[in-house]
Amino acid sequence: MCGIFAYTGGRTDAASLVLDGLRRLEYRGYDSWGVAVRSDGRVLVEKQVGKIGDARVSMPSSTVAFGHTRWATHGGVTDKNAHPHTDCSGRLAVIHNGIVENHSELRREAISRGHVFRSETDTEVIAHLLEDELAGRNGDPRALTDSVRSVFSRLVGMNALMVLDSRSDALVAVKQGSPLVVGYGEAGQYIASDASALLPHTRTVTFLADGQMVVASPDGVSVWDAASGKRVEQEVMELDWCPEQSELGEYPHYLIKEICEQPRIVRSAALAQAASAERLGRMVRESFGAFFIGCGTAANAALTGQYLFSRIARHHVNFEVGSEFGYLEHFLTPESLVIALSQSGETIDVIEPLSRIKRERGIQVAALVNVLGSTLYRLADYNVLLGAGPEKCVLATKSYTAKLAILVLTAYAMDGRLKEGQDLLLRAADCIEELLTRERRRQIEELADVIHERDHMFLIGRGLSYPSSLEAALKIKEVSYIHAEGFAGGELKHGVIALVERGTPCVVFAPSDETKGAILSGAMELRARGGFIVGVSPEPSDAFDFHVPVGDCGDASPIVNAVPAQLLAYELALRRGTDPDKPRNLAKSVTVK
Ligand code: GLU
Repeated sequence: MCGIFAYTGGRTDAASLVLDGLRRLEYRGYDSWGVAVRSDGRVLVEKQVGKIGDARVSMPSSTVAFGHTRWATHGGVTDKNAHPHTDCSGRLAVIHNGIVENHSELRREAISRGHVFRSETDTEVIAHLLEDELAGRNGDPRALTDSVRSVFSRLVGMNALMVLDSRSDALVAVKQGSPLVVGYGEAGQYIASDASALLPHTRTVTFLADGQMVVASPDGVSVWDAASGKRVEQEVMELDWCPEQSELGEYPHYLIKEICEQPRIVRSAALAQAASAERLGRMVRESFGAFFIGCGTAANAALTGQYLFSRIARHHVNFEVGSEFGYLEHFLTPESLVIALSQSGETIDVIEPLSRIKRERGIQVAALVNVLGSTLYRLADYNVLLGAGPEKCVLATKSYTAKLAILVLTAYAMDGRLKEGQDLLLRAADCIEELLTRERRRQIEELADVIHERDHMFLIGRGLSYPSSLEAALKIKEVSYIHAEGFAGGELKHGVIALVERGTPCVVFAPSDETKGAILSGAMELRARGGFIVGVSPEPSDAFDFHVPVGDCGDASPIVNAVPAQLLAYELALRRGTDPDKPRNLAKSVTVK
């Protein structure tokens, strides 16, 4: 959600370099954008509503610049509300991710001192407060950094902000909650809200911790504790992602590219995650109650985990969505274990309750997370990295199947049958590969041709396939905007079956397990009311109007079941003219509450 990219160094095309960086952040979702440069001792800003697309900035050559993609929270989507924002004097420009929760009172205070606001955003108040702090500090070498620290200490909320000063080539940034990562390149220093945007320039990075301030100049980078003003040692690490992983290559969209990467990712999980699965399994066994939490797709993976641990490891784990967990944590004890699932590691609805229970009650946290160095990664006592590579499409696909693969393996490891789990994952990878063949994809295209004009869809599954139905519905909703609802197979008839009419598409997950008989009866009930039944199953059935064959993968069936739904969502989006990679209103990582 929202993006920051900045550069200071030896190159003189800083503005276009920053614009290019912003393009790499587009996948996160945004509604307006802007760039500022320092040139001839002045700060110049260009900003506008809409997508960057092929836009160019007509800015003078400069060696320092920053840019922002905004996902509006306070104030409408207008050119004026786009970042950067400047102070009254025009000396400073500010970009900001997050929400200044006490912006109203700070704004009133600034207005009472004569400041004139040009936007409706919460962000602009930062520029005016900085202007006041800097007044009368001419000649003080620490004026800017001390002013940033002072203003930052007054902001309530999860925020990352950066300041460009017309009097210096240094960029000053500080963060709490919202991510910032520094990149050390050959041509200079970079700061971004997302490490994947740095890949064309460098893989050597420092992830800023909460409460840290960074000063990046053409000569180098220093990191400071914002509260005390003391210098801290920066932890430098190497990203193991390569730039090509972030590129589209031969694919028209990231969605289909990332769907097609899944066989490789599931296979590599089978081989590379054995030790992590053993360790996580031991932590679960040794804890006095384990709790899975996640949001959106990660919540569906977490719920699948609850079923997997029950049936494979005979071990009960609790599940809750991240945003509700804070209201259900009263029963945690110091021996509890919370396992958080998040692709980005920045999901605020997970980070917030976790930080609190760790801080206040010392609860142990494990994470299944894709981004090394992310907030969740740093918060957790134990991390299992998903190994899915950068996921650029807003829809989560390969990070979902990577999470499921690790959960399958962990459940098997807990039961002392790791090898069996590994074999099952290798089989699942083969089954996904089969679904991605030309012939099988054509079948999904035919299905999309039949149903793409419908307004409503229902999806059902039982047991392990219940979360599959939720996830399939989520994928379809997110990208095609068709109203799709997933249900436990037994639940649909407790009310919602009233909405099924002639031709309503109903997707039925019917793996060869103990749920098959009952789910096929459910399919018949829907069919009797006119539903158009799409069966995702190893075997055909009289209950199906359209059969999508999938390989029989036993306990790994949720991994395989995810793929036809992802492909269908993609094909529906193409037919309905929506953007498969950047659905409306959505952002890749949800970093505001
Ligand atoms: N709250 C700020 C605004 O609405 C920043 C939003 C963002 O993170 O993009 O302008």
